[in-house]
Amino acid sequence: MTDYKKIDCHLHSEFSYDSEEKIENILKTAAERGLYAVALTDHCEMNAPEDSRGEPKVLEGLQKLRSLREPYSGGLIVLCGAEVGQATQNYAAANHFIETAKLDFILGSIHNTKAEEDFYFIDFSKRDPLPLYTAYLGEMLELIEWGRFDSLAHLTYPLRYITEKYGIAIDHSALYPQYDAILSLLAEKELALEVNTSSVKNGGGLCPDFTFIKRFFDLGGRRITFGSDSHQAQYIGTGIDNAREAALAAGFKNAVIYKNRSPIEVAL
Ligand SMILES: [Zn+2]
Ligand SMILES: [Zn+2]
Repeated sequence: MTDYKKIDCHLHSEFSYDSEEKIENILKTAAERGLYAVALTDHCEMNAPEDSRGEPKVLEGLQKLRSLREPYSGGLIVLCGAEVGQATQNYAAANHFIETAKLDFILGSIHNTKAEEDFYFIDFSKRDPLPLYTAYLGEMLELIEWGRFDSLAHLTYPLRYITEKYGIAIDHSALYPQYDAILSLLAEKELALEVNTSSVKNGGGLCPDFTFIKRFFDLGGRRITFGSDSHQAQYIGTGIDNAREAALAAGFKNAVIYKNRSPIEVAL
């Protein structure tokens, strides 16, 4: 048990193409670790062809989650979410999914920009990362202009690969106007910024790091969500303590969870 209400609102199960984890294990582990709230957020990749976008699987997973969560209702808040990827590349599909799925929570993310494959696959020993990163931030801004999600997932996602995998440092100073545009619009629309802790298990930092969490607060952002982005139950909650400390240091008094797409404050 923790001495505060620990939340983990970014979790993948076998209903994502890149996870084999059973929902049973996710709920059991979250309860054993004394978490206050979790959200299942399986992948729905809007840029993919209809038959491989993942929507039916996401809905099937959520149906299963609803059938399994009852025994936990006294001690663990279990929320039905989805990670909607690349809505910018198929707004019609994203709008349709959001209108038909009964979700508590939606993470908005970009894993690949319009002209490129997932950053996961790009060989940065052969490519200049800066133009790709700039295009990525441009598409993040478009995603927020659309705005039909609750929390912006892993703002600095490409750094998982550019910096953590290839060891290439990016000079962010030239990108600050883009970051400010993103964080200001997010704050203005009262959307949340996710602090993603997926790299913590490998000795890495928060995504985005403290600089951006603080900048978001300074630009008026007051909604923040935490997620481990676990694809295996063993990592549930990993790094969330670090996210909480960073949020507190940046000035946040609360994190938020979402139920029926409405934010609920959780004291830090
Ligand atoms: Zn993601
Ligand atoms: Zn994810």
